[in-house]
Amino acid sequence: MITNEQVMEALKDVTSHDGKSIAESGTLQGVSIRDGKVFVALLADPIDPSAMEGIRAQVDKAVRTVEGVTDVFVSLTAEHAPGSAPRSDATGQAKKQRPERKPDGDPIPGVRHIIAVASGKGGVGKSTTSANLAVGLSKLGLKVGVLDADIYGPSMPRLFGTTTQPEINDNQQLIPIEAHGVKVISIGMLVDETQPMVWRGPMVMSAVTQLLREVAWAPLDVLVVDMPPGTGDTQLTLAQNVPLSGAVIVSTPQDLALLDARRGISMFEKVHVPILGIVENMSYFVCPHCGGRSEIFAHGGAKAEAQKMNVPFLGEIPLDIKIRELSDGGNPVVSEAPDGPHAAAYMAVARSVAEALQTGGEASRKAPVFVVEE
Ligand code: ADP
Repeated sequence: MITNEQVMEALKDVTSHDGKSIAESGTLQGVSIRDGKVFVALLADPIDPSAMEGIRAQVDKAVRTVEGVTDVFVSLTAEHAPGSAPRSDATGQAKKQRPERKPDGDPIPGVRHIIAVASGKGGVGKSTTSANLAVGLSKLGLKVGVLDADIYGPSMPRLFGTTTQPEINDNQQLIPIEAHGVKVISIGMLVDETQPMVWRGPMVMSAVTQLLREVAWAPLDVLVVDMPPGTGDTQLTLAQNVPLSGAVIVSTPQDLALLDARRGISMFEKVHVPILGIVENMSYFVCPHCGGRSEIFAHGGAKAEAQKMNVPFLGEIPLDIKIRELSDGGNPVVSEAPDGPHAAAYMAVARSVAEALQTGGEASRKAPVFVVEE
């Protein structure tokens, strides 16, 4: 088994631009070891990450000298987001402001559409919806990928029932794991779950950028990004920097005022990302014994709000034990029981999303008729 100490020993002679070892200078942000694969995070200047290429190559070479290492993936993280205020240096002077640019707003070669699945808060079924939407889109004949960017609780490996670690190809790209007809990459595959990792907002951005750019996604029709829940700075930066075709907002009906969902919509509108629509999850309950339908939480809230907000309503998904049980077992219901009523509900959402993408999200470009005070 490869140990952290072995990797650190191999890296001791790799120096940073200041001449100190990368560990001493703080350039080395973290090491994570999975089987024979070693993931190394280096701190880079977000304005000029190319300046790190030499060090990155040395790190790669050094780690490969450790016995048992089969693959190395060196990621570059940044301390402040591109375009954000620069940090002050030790003298308290702000560093020279460099021209603002948005390096990550460019499309990804071979990926036609990237859509975000978001929710105002956690626990509303955003990830379950992402997984089933992705499988649903693939059942419509589209080539689909899922990028699990939910740093607070990456759940795609569980939802897709995969424990495999991604391999790295000759171009130093991660090869996504194929499951249920979909290509999957999760931030959870890269970090060691036994070592808690503290994410700073820009680090998330940088990690997600790498998962967009340094993964062999192509060719894809749709890449579904499962966003971290909430509408804070991290989410805003993500929405701003990932070249999104549109966003799907997941909400539950009991959140009657749908305040959280409104915040989500407002966030995407702010950065000019079209809202593809709202999905009402846990909309109604179907009794597994008698088949009777109970509207436990004032069902229909999302549909009414969507109308008020002038954004499309994509459909309602029942609260059903089968959805949870299959999800927990790594089998999205759309894949496992494609002819059942649950799959039909997700397929209706998938069709609406596919249509909205085909028409360039025209339906969703209408201006919202509300203003949210921050
Ligand atoms: P989020 O991503 O919003 O945090 P998850 O997708 O992880 O939420 O779902 C939270 C929990 O609710 C999971 O246990 C999941 O299986 C369950 N769940 C989600 N949607 C449904 C549904 N429609 N019916 C039953 N259980 C659901």
